[in-house]
Amino acid sequence: MAQTVRGFRDIMEPDAAAFAELEARCRALFRLYGYGEIRLPTVEQRELFVKSTGDTTDIVEKEMYAFEDAGGRMLALRPEGTPGVARAYIENGLPAKDLRQKLFYIGSMFRAERPQAGRYREFEQIGAEYIGNPDPSADAETMVLLAALLKSAGVKEIRLEINSIGCPQCRPAYKQALLDYLKANLDSLCDNCKKRVERNPLRALDCKTDGPKLAAGAPPMKYCPDCDAHFAQVREHLKNAPLAFNVNPNLVRGLDYYTRTVFEFRAAGIGSQDAIAAGGRYDTLIKSMGGPDVAAVGWAMGADRVLAAAASGERAAPKPEVFVAAADKTAAPKAFQILQFLRGEGLRADAAAFSQSLKSQMRAANKSGARFAAIIGEREAAEGTVTLKDLAPGGQEKTVSPREAADLARRQLQDGLKAS
Ligand SMILES: [Zn+2]
Ligand SMILES: [Zn+2]
Repeated sequence: MAQTVRGFRDIMEPDAAAFAELEARCRALFRLYGYGEIRLPTVEQRELFVKSTGDTTDIVEKEMYAFEDAGGRMLALRPEGTPGVARAYIENGLPAKDLRQKLFYIGSMFRAERPQAGRYREFEQIGAEYIGNPDPSADAETMVLLAALLKSAGVKEIRLEINSIGCPQCRPAYKQALLDYLKANLDSLCDNCKKRVERNPLRALDCKTDGPKLAAGAPPMKYCPDCDAHFAQVREHLKNAPLAFNVNPNLVRGLDYYTRTVFEFRAAGIGSQDAIAAGGRYDTLIKSMGGPDVAAVGWAMGADRVLAAAASGERAAPKPEVFVAAADKTAAPKAFQILQFLRGEGLRADAAAFSQSLKSQMRAANKSGARFAAIIGEREAAEGTVTLKDLAPGGQEKTVSPREAADLARRQLQDGLKAS
């Protein structure tokens, strides 16, 4: 029997409807904040992620689906969205139109992580990139937008953690001080950190094992005056928004391209302390890729984790509102016509095989969860009417014109909504 690949899955109703609903809410809010959509290719050059995300990151080193195609090109399934957006910004000549661009994307990312509950190797990310605004208000705005999205998605308790990891002026000295400290305390580090400490000492700070210990002893970050002022203004804007936050000196985010502000949103109730959304400023990435010297800030959120954090009660798959049935074969053409008429009236309408017995069709109507059946028999077909039967217990039936049937169904469905 054919099966999905390990770590991959089918998304079925009602989850599929929940994804669609989340995406719709996000699209509406993105428009409100002035973002345009970008639909990125799934496959990019492998080099794009090696050079931007960074070859010492777990994402690129261990988790990326990289492969050689028949033409000998080294390619990768995108593990994240930001490098593709930066590439697209340069490649499509957007800087010539306006350096300042606000772009959002929605799509699957691929990472060969160890399969575990709630983690998949293909997962949906929704992301935003604000390119061309170096101002601290841009950092704050992206976080405020993200908070609004999470709230709109129904995530109740969010915690925002922020930090600044400095810039190419002030970070090298800090990195060296941290490396000296870590080397002096090498024995206390986990095996993973021991191996990567030389290549990427910052990563030890967000290591789940070592991070908490290091918080107390590691040397503090010393910002240059510009970074210091930038971070102070970001915090000021967040206070004025107002958006509550916590400064977490251990938060470094694993990716190479971040400069200055980094942030994570965490949610209560999804077990781990993992972020449901995260991002930061990346003022040097676009220039390093051959583009203009332009600042940027952005984030990505995991749709699965947002939905898990927002889940309240049972999710329900959408049911038809009216189920159309033909009482005999001669009524089938009319029944088919009425089915389309009801949909045209904005009612969710469905039907089974008109060639089945009426009894079978009524069984299908009940199974579908529809509130009404619209039955067309010989008499109805001749008169141009329809018998609308309320399938709720004790429901009535009435033979009326198709338009009256649509109005009647709509009215009762609305009353039902008001009552519940
Ligand atoms: Zn700096
Ligand atoms: Zn560690």
